[in-house]
Amino acid sequence: MPAKRPSPLLAQLAQGPVICAEGYVFELERRGYLQAGAFVPEVVLEHPDAVTQLHRDFVHAGSDVVEALTYYAHREKLRVIGRERDLEPINRRALEIARAVADESGTLLAGGICNTNVYDPADPASHKAVRAMFEEQVQWAVDANVDFIIGETFSYAQEALIATDVIKKAGKAAVITLAMHQAEVTREDWSVADACRRIEAAGADVVGLNCIRGPATMMPLLRRIRDAVKVPMAALPVPYRTTTSQPSFQSLRDAHYSPPGERPFPIALDPFTCNRFEIGDFGREALAMDIRYLGVCCGAGPHHIRALAESVGKHPPASRYSADMSKHAFLGSHERIKQVQKDYAGKL
Ligand SMILES: [Zn+2]
Repeated sequence: MPAKRPSPLLAQLAQGPVICAEGYVFELERRGYLQAGAFVPEVVLEHPDAVTQLHRDFVHAGSDVVEALTYYAHREKLRVIGRERDLEPINRRALEIARAVADESGTLLAGGICNTNVYDPADPASHKAVRAMFEEQVQWAVDANVDFIIGETFSYAQEALIATDVIKKAGKAAVITLAMHQAEVTREDWSVADACRRIEAAGADVVGLNCIRGPATMMPLLRRIRDAVKVPMAALPVPYRTTTSQPSFQSLRDAHYSPPGERPFPIALDPFTCNRFEIGDFGREALAMDIRYLGVCCGAGPHHIRALAESVGKHPPASRYSADMSKHAFLGSHERIKQVQKDYAGKL
């Protein structure tokens, strides 16, 4: 049995909100270091400095956690891109990069596993394969001495249950988040409340939702989960303006432009992006429900993370540069701004 020691994540959550920036693959894709489609983080081998910089950007903006970029760095995805032999190097390097930033910034280090895309409820052989995929990734995270492990973006709650079991058997705290698409039930037709209750019963330390839904369409589901679980809750929406009729970011359609493939997802979502105030509103609303593990997933920029951190009362280093419009040349109220400039403000 691995040695048990109290998780620093749970200690921090007992005191107040914890911010976890996610969405690394989306942001590195925008920065030109990662290919959309497969979304495999080959970048950790090919441009490790870009990963380090993004970790630093998110920590500067308020993330209390550095999540190793092992999203989709699992055996099945590596097979899809023909790089299965790089599976272990990618995982170990991602953990090493994240470890360095966590150490220099005094933040928590998280390992990460996610949906395998091979889970089939009707095929017991797939359950074994999924477990084996999780076990190898979790072992590499344990070797890196992570503070906890995130299991994320599961649309089958049963796959999340396997992830929970593997993480807990490895002796680590588990943050398990489900990905809810257009339906308000998991792919095996469990309600979100029931799914989260079962994940909690399986030993997860934090349960909730991440990715896929924007603040507006994630919030109603969070309310249903709220009364169902006792462990700390997690909420990490995507920063996009999803709606009742288009509740997931994959279901969004742009009335002004039809990109290749018709869907704006994943690389033409720009016009749907939430502003930082909307993310701040979400943070306040979630914290009022005592949802303490908060973040933003695919599409998140550092400005979103800073707004979220500030909305729950934090003051990250980037707050040094939070807006002060009193000094604006036309819109400002500063004594140096001449009245003639202020009068022109309406004509800007
Ligand atoms: Zn995401």
